[in-house]
Amino acid sequence: MGQVNKYFFVNSNHILHKGINGFALYDLVGGDIFTINHKLGTILEITEKGSTVEETAERTQLDLKDILEELDNLVQQKRGNFYNSRVYIEKYKFSQVYVRPPISTTGIQRCFIELPGSCRSKCSFCETPSLFQCNKCTKISTKPNLTLIKDFLHRIIQMNCRSLVFHGGDPLSELHQLTLITDWCRKHSYEGEICVVTNGTQLNNDIWEVFSRNKITPIIPLFSINPLITEKKLYEICSIAQQKNIATIFTMVMVESNPDSSTYKKFITRLNPQNVWPAVVYDNDRNTSPIYPTLYNAVVRVDANRYYHNKWLHPCLWGTIALTADGNVLPCPHLKTEILGSMKDANCIYNIFENEDLIFKYWERLCLSNISKCKDCSFNHGCLDCRALEKRITGDLYGKYVCSLKR
Ligand code: SF4
Ligand code: SF4
Ligand code: SF4
Repeated sequence: MGQVNKYFFVNSNHILHKGINGFALYDLVGGDIFTINHKLGTILEITEKGSTVEETAERTQLDLKDILEELDNLVQQKRGNFYNSRVYIEKYKFSQVYVRPPISTTGIQRCFIELPGSCRSKCSFCETPSLFQCNKCTKISTKPNLTLIKDFLHRIIQMNCRSLVFHGGDPLSELHQLTLITDWCRKHSYEGEICVVTNGTQLNNDIWEVFSRNKITPIIPLFSINPLITEKKLYEICSIAQQKNIATIFTMVMVESNPDSSTYKKFITRLNPQNVWPAVVYDNDRNTSPIYPTLYNAVVRVDANRYYHNKWLHPCLWGTIALTADGNVLPCPHLKTEILGSMKDANCIYNIFENEDLIFKYWERLCLSNISKCKDCSFNHGCLDCRALEKRITGDLYGKYVCSLKR
């Protein structure tokens, strides 16, 4: 035991975070968040500020031997060390401390564009609020204004856009529309990813030809209730996609009352998709007691990138922009009433990125440190969030309903 040592500090890749719910220790390299009991959290809070172990014992009125035992455990776990003198441990950083980079270098991470086609399916939950609704399909009845869509794409493509996602019912049922727009993107030297959210029931040779020519990735939602495509059909889809060198993404669409995705997971691994995303359909009846889906716990890994990202930016809205079929620009495809501008206005894109109150309100100021219940939570630098769902449930852009701590 380190009785002769005077100081204790956690390692450079660990950060102690205090919230009103307690303490958490983030491992920025391993990706875990550890809940720390109040006693150890209080000890570390004092030692991290540079007090000696003896001073810590005096301030906390805890037994020195107990404190050394707690700290020794952290040494064994390789989370911290004793030091003979006061040292400064620079925390591990993925990149430089946050300075808002110019939009030309950050770019647009995801751009959602409504290009609706009809969908013959009648899923009862089609328009029900969902967690990560952007990962699944939803019917849209507006006819798309292709001129405004092209004007928008013309600007967005120049902004280092990484991913274009076309969605709305099933865009494949208006193949001429999808072909026209995706051909246009590739002819205008767009080299980023193009995705289309489709229920997968209409895939045929003509569609595969367009996918192959324009390197289009289908995002196919798989519904845990009332599945639309059989396992056999899914294997067929994946086999054709692999032959044609086309990536596939699946979304596991679960329901709040049964968020278990284990059976899906086994099946999907065998399909070898490029990615698997989640979506959870929430119950409409808010009088019933909500069942928290264990989703956040399952997917969150907090590397240094996510830690610093969440510290300053919204987990998913940062870098996201969306266009409705009739030309309204939104910060997210499902924050329908948060209109940033209309492409009918020639200065729309310029205004959105030059005016501090427009896009940066969603990208930066909605970070979890500014969200009602998350503000003082020790997990806010590692948590996920879907503002579209929160706003639909609470009616407040800064409201919070879905929470890992609510069980
Ligand atoms: S397949 Fe998608 S768009 Fe069609 S009804 Fe079902 S959820 Fe809605
Ligand atoms: S949603 Fe996450 S950050 Fe917000 S209060 Fe719950 S656990 Fe904390
Ligand atoms: S808030 Fe984020 S996760 Fe939710 S629908 Fe919008 S972009 Fe998707």
